[in-house]
Amino acid sequence: MQYPAHLLKLIHVLRRLPGVGNKSAERFAFHLLTWPTEYLQELGDVVITAKEKLQHCPDCGCLMDDKHCKFCDISKRESHTVCVLATAREVFSIEGTHEYKGLYHVLGGVLSPLENRGPDHLSVPKLIERIQTFNINEVVIALDSTLEGDATSLYLKQELSPFSVKVSRLAFGLPMGSALEYVDGGTLARAFTGRNQF
Ligand SMILES: [Zn+2]
Repeated sequence: MQYPAHLLKLIHVLRRLPGVGNKSAERFAFHLLTWPTEYLQELGDVVITAKEKLQHCPDCGCLMDDKHCKFCDISKRESHTVCVLATAREVFSIEGTHEYKGLYHVLGGVLSPLENRGPDHLSVPKLIERIQTFNINEVVIALDSTLEGDATSLYLKQELSPFSVKVSRLAFGLPMGSALEYVDGGTLARAFTGRNQF
């Protein structure tokens, strides 16, 4: 069965969204066609305005609405610790825990030889500059527990070794409420390596 050309185009565009395959794209497309025109107009306007107005802070790389970055406001943040993350999105996950009050630094990705992403793609020189400016005494690496995340963490540790700064990495271990028998071997091994005194 062949869809009309305009519907096919809509499905094709929706498939660009992460985690959206053919079936989901078809479902979204048919759903969007039931919306009144003003809703569709609003969707388009909101997306374009967000893209135009949101900026990455030139210092920390976090997202900000205007020229003032609330994550760099040292009157409200503990300025001797910096948490290093791959993307600006993850900053909001850490903020949501209310456990961390220090500064952030967004690397802009992780090292990935397969995707041709080397050290030049990461905002490491700016991180080093900020460590010196703010007399940072601890760098908390909050990167994924993946091969790329591990390689990037090791690279950062090497790059930061000339500076008198403590480098730590988020602990990886058992998910909350998990039963040992259902936890995969890799996670269990990480939990053992990163065990804490009790
Ligand atoms: Zn900032």
